[in-house]
Amino acid sequence: MLSQRGCSHLVLERNRIAERWRSERWDEMRFQFPNWSVRLPDFPFPHADPDGFATNGQIVDFITAYAAFVAAPIRCGVCVTALRRHDTGSAFVAETTEGMIEADNVPLVDDRRRPERCARRPQCRLLGFCAGPHRPGRGPGGRRHRSQSREQAGQQKANPGQLPPGAVLVVGSGASGAQITEELFRAGRRVYLSVGQHTRLPRRYRGRDLTWWLSAMGLDQTPTEMRGPDRSNPLITGAFGGDTIDFRRFAAEGVTLLGRMQAADHTMVTLAADLSKRLA
Ligand SMILES: Cc1cc2nc3c(=O)[nH]c(=O)nc-3n(C[C@H](O)[C@H](O)[C@H](O)COP(=O)(O)OP(=O)(O)OC[C@H]3O[C@@H](n4cnc5c(N)ncnc54)[C@H](O)[C@@H]3O)c2cc1C
Repeated sequence: MLSQRGCSHLVLERNRIAERWRSERWDEMRFQFPNWSVRLPDFPFPHADPDGFATNGQIVDFITAYAAFVAAPIRCGVCVTALRRHDTGSAFVAETTEGMIEADNVPLVDDRRRPERCARRPQCRLLGFCAGPHRPGRGPGGRRHRSQSREQAGQQKANPGQLPPGAVLVVGSGASGAQITEELFRAGRRVYLSVGQHTRLPRRYRGRDLTWWLSAMGLDQTPTEMRGPDRSNPLITGAFGGDTIDFRRFAAEGVTLLGRMQAADHTMVTLAADLSKRLA
């Protein structure tokens, strides 16, 4: 869009294009929306199955191909370490690992800048497990060590085989937690799932994917702050062909559901007695 409007610009990426999808997620992660709905301007997503869900590798290929298609002026391996207003007050100065860059406007397009994506961790020390994929090189609480190199970052994706043997407590009942629970359970693990606040919806209704209904109702074009009292995103996954996430089914199959995790210290975990409330 910036190129089309003739705005001179520069894109900075601290790692590689689409790094999140390359190395910062679970191996078997799928795009949450069906293939027919995946699109970038003038650049269709190539697929054989409109109702299928793309793998993270396919998303990496798609974004990388799009960057080439629009000839994005992108500099990889450059991290922005600070951003401040220019002394004149009308522009910005970005401090980067490759020096200072001045710009009139600076869009921040890191998904984690969105409030609902910011990590909220309980006040506790975690040992032996983490909320989400186990990532070698991460310290207590799942935080990545700052000294970790990009080469190491490339080995971060996780799968059930990387977890130490034994039962697993998955903390977090978002799309990732649900998918990880199901995958671990299918891999023969004893799995406990700590369930927090969430919005469950059927994946399909009257033969249409939820994405179709959200789009037909215009909700995908409605800013979050205008969506009514419940602004949480529905709990959906593209894993396993786009299953409806149903925690009661998980329990019927053998996953042990637990209330919300309140605290953890070494080997002791404290859970709220609020599972029925969360499920209701
Ligand atoms: C834990 C987790 C699990 C998820 N699982 C799924 C899933 O299973 N399926 C699904 O469809 N979606 C999933 N998502 C959502 C998906 O990852 C995001 O919707 C998508 O990545 C958003 O893309 P984006 O381009 O807006 O931001 P991002 O993908 O976050 O891209 C931002 C980029 O900015 C770079 N960057 C950040 N800070 C700096 C800096 N200071 N200097 C330079 N570069 C910087 C990062 O390296 C990154 O490449 C998940 C999200 C999270 C947090």
